[in-house]
Amino acid sequence: MLSNFYTCPSFNIVNESEKFGGRRGKRMKKWTWISLIAIICILFTGVGKANAAEKGKRYIGLHDRILPIEDIRVIDGDTKVPLKDIANYLYLPVETKDGKTIIQKQGKEFIFDHSTGTTTLDGVDQPWKPIASIDGQLFISVKYIARETGFQFEYFQEHHTIRIYRNEFNHISHEAFKEVIKAHGTKQPPVSTSNASKKATVYLTFDDGPNQSTLINNATLEKYKVPATFFFLGNQMKQNESIVKTVSKSGHYIGSHSMTHDKALVYNSTESFIAEMAGGAELVEQLTGKSANLVRVPYGSKPLVTPSMQKSLIARGFKLWDWDVDSNDWRYTDKQAGQIVKNVQEGVTKAVKSGDKDIIILLHDRSQTTIALPRIIEWLQQEGYKFKAYEPDNHIIQNFLRDPLL
Ligand SMILES: [Zn+2]
Repeated sequence: MLSNFYTCPSFNIVNESEKFGGRRGKRMKKWTWISLIAIICILFTGVGKANAAEKGKRYIGLHDRILPIEDIRVIDGDTKVPLKDIANYLYLPVETKDGKTIIQKQGKEFIFDHSTGTTTLDGVDQPWKPIASIDGQLFISVKYIARETGFQFEYFQEHHTIRIYRNEFNHISHEAFKEVIKAHGTKQPPVSTSNASKKATVYLTFDDGPNQSTLINNATLEKYKVPATFFFLGNQMKQNESIVKTVSKSGHYIGSHSMTHDKALVYNSTESFIAEMAGGAELVEQLTGKSANLVRVPYGSKPLVTPSMQKSLIARGFKLWDWDVDSNDWRYTDKQAGQIVKNVQEGVTKAVKSGDKDIIILLHDRSQTTIALPRIIEWLQQEGYKFKAYEPDNHIIQNFLRDPLL
């Protein structure tokens, strides 16, 4: 307070006032002036503090964590963040064409018109401008996009933090989240998003479902907002149709991992191989209405896939993924789940060192993997990796056969 008092510029007026009035009057006047100016100074510094807080660091929380978004701005009392950043974390597909930026999510269409600076939602004008173009970059209201895409939000005024979350997912209480905010304030600055975008993309892939572990993995992915790729077995899909639909609705990619997984049956002949792989793909398509052209063959493509099987896959328009990082999860018990996390950390670190920008990680829908998965995701997120599910329109070649057509 003392330092604030001294920096208050009007303090010098007190000395000026001493030049006027008599001895008694001077003393009276002096104290009146000091009190008055003190009050003004207190008021001013109070206001100054409020302004500083307004300009100070703000945070956006998503579920149980603080997002590493650097450029958070308060515009007319509303917190806005770069659209590209929040789109990344909320998995909002953003497209810019013909002077318009379009976001489509949950059947809703938001359009920002760059020439007029206006936003429409499903054709209806949004008069208070939830999206603004600042210094050539689009900023979007956090509360607006949260509310419109099915999130709840809570504002923690004393911590300058907006937390967005979905009630249907498990998350820590608001009281516990305040501790997360406090702990975050004392940490090193987070990895900036520009840094993160330079990092590799990781593709989590889960084989051998659908089963009960698939549902747990799916819930974990949902909680952390991470897209992934599943390779399901046909015979398992027949018994767990609802799980296939749940995973598909969560936005993950589902490909075929054969019907039986039985080495003797799958690799018996080219005909059996194709029937096994295509049978699984057809089931995915029937159950989800989505195409399933990507396969992962049981036990990996090499050395089991023959040149004839290879040719037949290509002729039928299939693509094949092996992997970059093997978690070896199937080798461990639930209690050894930590080893799976370690294997992924070592494998990814090695792949990055070798210059790999698209890292495909092999996991399974197994109990020990459900235990390891949260820690795997948290580590990858901390390291700044971006997650993607397989994108058919943006196919990445990764097969041990080194076939550019697969
Ligand atoms: Zn398998």
